Amino acid sequence: MLDRGIIRQASTGTFYLLPLGQRALQKLIKIVDKEMQGIGAQKLLLPLLTSGELWKTTGRWDTAGPELFTLRDRHDRDYVLSPTHEEAITELIASSPQLSHRSLPLRLYQVTSKFRDEMKPRSGLLRGKEFLMKDLYTFDTTLQAAEETYNAVCNAYDNIFRRIEVGYVKVMGDPGMIGGSLSHEYHYPVNVGEDQLLICQECNYGANTEVCGNSEECPQCKQPHMGHCPGIEVGHTFLLGTKYSTPLGASYMKADGKPSPVQMGCYGIGLTRTLAAAVESLSLPDELRWPLAFAPFSVCIIPPKDGSKESSVSHLSEHLYESLHSSTPFEDDVLVDDRSQWTIGRRLFEAKKTGYPFIVVVGKKATEVEPLFEVYDLLQNIQLDLCHSIEEEIKRVEEGTLELQQKAVDLDKEKERKLVDLSHKKAQSEFLTNKENMLKALIAEANTTLKKEKDNLAQQQDNIFLKRGKFCNTVREFVEEHGIVATLKKLQLKKQEADKTRSATEDVDDLYDIDENNEEDIELTEMKREVDTLETDLKEVTMQLENREERQKAANKEREQLLKETTEGEEFVSGGMIQDHTLAIDWIADNVADSADKSVLIPARLQEKLLQLREDKKLLNQQCAVLDKQQQQQAAQTQIISKPSIYENLEESQSFGSNKGQQPNSTIVTTPKSSKKLNKRVRGKRGGLSKCFVPKVPSKILSKIKIREEHKAQLEQDISNIVRQANKLHH
Ligand SMILES: [Zn+2]
Repeated sequence: MLDRGIIRQASTGTFYLLPLGQRALQKLIKIVDKEMQGIGAQKLLLPLLTSGELWKTTGRWDTAGPELFTLRDRHDRDYVLSPTHEEAITELIASSPQLSHRSLPLRLYQVTSKFRDEMKPRSGLLRGKEFLMKDLYTFDTTLQAAEETYNAVCNAYDNIFRRIEVGYVKVMGDPGMIGGSLSHEYHYPVNVGEDQLLICQECNYGANTEVCGNSEECPQCKQPHMGHCPGIEVGHTFLLGTKYSTPLGASYMKADGKPSPVQMGCYGIGLTRTLAAAVESLSLPDELRWPLAFAPFSVCIIPPKDGSKESSVSHLSEHLYESLHSSTPFEDDVLVDDRSQWTIGRRLFEAKKTGYPFIVVVGKKATEVEPLFEVYDLLQNIQLDLCHSIEEEIKRVEEGTLELQQKAVDLDKEKERKLVDLSHKKAQSEFLTNKENMLKALIAEANTTLKKEKDNLAQQQDNIFLKRGKFCNTVREFVEEHGIVATLKKLQLKKQEADKTRSATEDVDDLYDIDENNEEDIELTEMKREVDTLETDLKEVTMQLENREERQKAANKEREQLLKETTEGEEFVSGGMIQDHTLAIDWIADNVADSADKSVLIPARLQEKLLQLREDKKLLNQQCAVLDKQQQQQAAQTQIISKPSIYENLEESQSFGSNKGQQPNSTIVTTPKSSKKLNKRVRGKRGGLSKCFVPKVPSKILSKIKIREEHKAQLEQDISNIVRQANKLHH
């Protein structure tokens, strides 16, 4: 690098970085910046001179040893030309306004020169007194969070070294002077490396021999396959914990309001060393080789020598430059070696020594009928001939690149879209969870309300039953007090009112459909139902009352019938149907004499009749007495004169009766009973005289007697009926 115009030594261990070197370094810094920003690290710049007091506070002023560059200013204040910036950045955090736990994690990095007072600086940029470093410092709330940060940074470091495309190894590191609990080293395995690494050929576990000694057994897989290889350390990561934050007082405010020291990590990449080590790793003994990622120029075009035969196609090199320079992959990355006073061969030799990855020669082949460029791919060590249409080729490649870029953009958009979608789904899920909870609460509330409503309805039902009972009682009382007709009238009035209410309700029904979910409608329906119930009750009571009325009417009719029949009976009695008053009186004497005791009420007209009949009986008895007397006189005469037939006497008495006209409309009815009585009477009056006669009764008279007996039985039956009906009526 020293003789290829990349760097120039300034003094022992210090170097000028020439334009090609600076170009390469800036490309490397760009890669590092991109990855640092990818993990949210912010770039800042700390002073190279650090107060010696800080180093004394952490104790490193004494422990860092003679490699620490120290100096003193005119006021006798000590300073350190920082080899690393843990003290400075921790002091920055400690002196800032109190950090909140919400401000963490915090990741800060810088790209600055570092200094080390090497005893024997050597290997150019690999070990100098001044070197460029990227150093990152991280601050977290807990050790766990700091470990997460540590893993994120290691991941970013892997990305950086993969992008450089130079084989590297990552091994367990020695915390060394920096300190801390966990450490990893990134090495380029080069022969000039001063570190000795042990790499397991089984599981790729690697460690610095400073860490694991020279054991041949792998600490990870326990196989005895640890192989030695030299390496040069280009990156180092440290999990520091509170080694610096505690002594320098860098703390943050926890959620509970108490301060706590921040958990730190520090991470370095030696940039100038990485540059040198990568080139060292790729280069040939007499030619440099650059990784494509940070070669000073990717393409070097060598146009024809001035005045040569090929100079006629010089314009092709200009066209090629323009095309490449404006194309995406080679933008600002094409060099034209315009030292055209030199032969192509000399310049190609120089270009190969410098190691541009692609060298394009516009030479002899470009002058042929089918013009060709000679292309040297140094990294793959091949030579190609590309036709003049390389521009088209480049365009094609460019289009391909554009296409890929478009694809990348699309993928980014897709990713963005999916992230948005995911967040929407999360929101939706939260919404659904909320909704579910709300529904659960709602159902619980609804159940409570429904139970209350059910109790209410039960209460209302009880009330209705109570009301109904009261209503029935009221009707009953009303009936008892005012009689059936008044009750009916009142009930009919009520019914009319109910009908009115009902028709009004029906009108409402016509106007509005009943909505089962509407509270008012439900209430209305309830009211209607209540009215219906009351109406049904009313109907029932009305019907009962009507039944009673019917029964009353029937009773009245029956009564009238009875009265009529009684009147008829009386008329029958008074109408001269009964002609034998004696017999009637006898019957009454037998059946009705104790009428008072039997509580038999005899209608007034019957009583009159009875009195009449008694009068008649008295009269008849008197007549009988007269007749007896006459008979005795006649008998006395007959004993003397002749023996007259009893029947002639009877006929005489008969004619006597009718002739006398005392009962003008009556005829003497003889029955066996009355005949017996008559005989008895006659016997009683006549003494032993009558036994002398055994009368022979003519058939004509017998049939007459029979008719009269039947007539009498009929009358007896009729009278008993009348008496029974009278009793019934009375009751
Ligand atoms: Zn192993």
